[in-house]
Amino acid sequence: MRVRHFACLRKRRSRRQARLLRVLARLLMRLGLGLLVMFFSVAAIAAETSVCYGTASDGRLEGGVPLPQEGVNFVSYSMIGRLAGRTYVHNKVRDIVVAAYAGLEKEKPGVVYKYAETGFSDGGPFKPHKTHQNGSSVDFMVPVVDQNGTSVHLPTHIFNKFGYAIEFDSVGSYGEYNIDYPAMAAHIVQLHREAASRDLHLWRVIFDPKLQKHLFETEYAEYLRANIKFSEKPSWVRHDEHYHVDFSIPCASER
Ligand SMILES: [Zn+2]
Repeated sequence: MRVRHFACLRKRRSRRQARLLRVLARLLMRLGLGLLVMFFSVAAIAAETSVCYGTASDGRLEGGVPLPQEGVNFVSYSMIGRLAGRTYVHNKVRDIVVAAYAGLEKEKPGVVYKYAETGFSDGGPFKPHKTHQNGSSVDFMVPVVDQNGTSVHLPTHIFNKFGYAIEFDSVGSYGEYNIDYPAMAAHIVQLHREAASRDLHLWRVIFDPKLQKHLFETEYAEYLRANIKFSEKPSWVRHDEHYHVDFSIPCASER
């Protein structure tokens, strides 16, 4: 009886030890996984931090990030342009652009947007553009409606120089497409709001001075007048099919 009793005790003890070991192993596993996840999160954040140098017309970028190919209410102007690495920006600019589209999703459901050229991952000269060199410039194609008033994408492909060869008339019509000024004004307002919420700014918006007046006929006129600096003189290329936005991001001065 005594022998069996001892054997029983030993068995119980070893079962308890095994259980303890299992719990310990699980704990270590969780801790290890946690550390691993933490390590990769920190690495991802570090990898996503861009540094810009100089100015938009004479600068460069380190750690540029691509704009997403598409979202619920927006698309890139071209898969070719994207694959050629022409849609990179400073990570802060990417965050502002994406958040502005998310805001428009709620404010203007059903309205679709298209962004165009931005810059290379390491910035620098970006032909044929004169700026777009340090990740702070983004071109947006004008949002348009078709003859039924439905929000559609302006066609952008190799045969119209990815949209840049399109010419709108003096009121903003091109074939069956008309510029959707309220949608465009709402977009600029959202970009400004998202920049301001991050203590950043929009330095300027370049858009054909003759077409600009239509933006001030929208419900956003007052906000635009108070917060946005528009180009006043015609620039080297007519900005009628797209508007160019320069974000004010703190950059290192040396190149
Ligand atoms: Zn531009």
